[in-house]
Amino acid sequence: MFDTILIANRGEIALRIQRAASHLGLKTVAVFSEADATLPHVKLADEAICIGPASAQASYLNPHEILMAARLTGAQAIHPGYGFLAENADFAEMIERHGLTFIGPTSSAIRCMGDKVRAKQAMRMACVPCVPGSEGELPEAADEILRIGAQVGYPLIVKAAGGGGGKGMRVVTTEADLVESVALTRQEAQRSFNNAAVYMERFLQHPRHVEIQVLADNYGKAIWLGARDCSLQRRHQKVLEESPAPKIDARAIAAIGERCVEACRQIGYRGAGTFEFLYEDGEFFFIEMNTRVQVEHPVTEMVTGVDIVAEQIRIAMGIPLSIDQEDVTFTGHAIECRINAENAWNFMPSPGTVTTWLPPGGPGIRVDSHLFAGYAVPPNYDSLVAKVIAYGKDREQAMSRMRQALSEMVIEGIDTNIGLHREVLKLDGVVDGGFNIHFLEQWLAGRSQRGAQQ
Ligand code: ADP
Repeated sequence: MFDTILIANRGEIALRIQRAASHLGLKTVAVFSEADATLPHVKLADEAICIGPASAQASYLNPHEILMAARLTGAQAIHPGYGFLAENADFAEMIERHGLTFIGPTSSAIRCMGDKVRAKQAMRMACVPCVPGSEGELPEAADEILRIGAQVGYPLIVKAAGGGGGKGMRVVTTEADLVESVALTRQEAQRSFNNAAVYMERFLQHPRHVEIQVLADNYGKAIWLGARDCSLQRRHQKVLEESPAPKIDARAIAAIGERCVEACRQIGYRGAGTFEFLYEDGEFFFIEMNTRVQVEHPVTEMVTGVDIVAEQIRIAMGIPLSIDQEDVTFTGHAIECRINAENAWNFMPSPGTVTTWLPPGGPGIRVDSHLFAGYAVPPNYDSLVAKVIAYGKDREQAMSRMRQALSEMVIEGIDTNIGLHREVLKLDGVVDGGFNIHFLEQWLAGRSQRGAQQ
């Protein structure tokens, strides 16, 4: 048991954790960089400590500073949010070693799932269907690589075992490019993830990205909370998410959900987690597991009524899951638009001072954001500044509420992608639902051409 949580993150997710902790009657400690003293969660927390300069390396990615802050304030538990140290097994292990609680799975579960080759092996053992590909990590010898490539078939995708954030992936269409592509991906993987191991998968041509949210407690109980469709992507990064996943039979979702919770039991998983799948021609193929709360968790919260962050904290306190699978119900539809501080045309980050902040409201609208007028968006971190979530009794109402919300929303002083979302929500493919992961990039390519012609 603990009564004080240190929030090892910033921005909207830090505020989200602050809210969940307060709701549970817990005290909070905010840690912040020199660029983040004005963030709302810093003001709301019971205590706040500056842990270093603006650079993430020197602050939010510095385990020792964070541990020191916990020691100084008497916080007994650490919530890592997403990004930064959330999936760093060494950090989780250090927290465990110092007798504090890491609000998440065990360090060994994080380590296992953080290595995508090991994660896929664990999933095969648990009978979760995976994207066909190499058995494990690729060997060094070129002839061996070519042999495995021929087995997997072209096009294929070479991926970094330690990869994340859409980086460390390379599509290979012909055998002639394979050996060089593997070498390049290895170099990139070593540089970005300090792990040169790479593997191969069949490159699916028109899949959707559909993921299953799970919660598991310390006592072998696990539940699944439905599916999210995150197929609207740019550079393998999610832009818009929704739940439930349109046009997929509820029984198919239930079947894969059951597989996921069974896998949780087999690997001894604890906390919130997401099983990511590609879905093509009626089949699910596991790609990876995220061992943390995800940016898009609110859409699941809206349709199930479960507070995922509060549940994470309760699980970490050793409280058994109070919800049975039979009690989980799915009502209505929810959509989330990620609002980024970025140029609408070239997607370059757009830091600067927000001069106007007019968030939308009304029935079914939720805004998770740390913005306020006068806030200076620093250039040092991820460009996500707000999440607009629209809930409706069905998809049509959720879409209509989202359109209204985005037409009301005003952010001035920085560039944002609000305009892009407004346009995207008008597209027939998006209105119909069930589009694949290439939809947005294809539309953007067309938009650039149309822009160049004008
Ligand atoms: P990351 O951890 O970097 O997010 P993922 O393995 O989750 O990497 O993949 C991110 C995205 O890349 C997927 O949502 C999908 O768009 C694309 N992708 C990954 N693997 C494949 C594959 N085998 N075939 C087609 N697309 C893929």
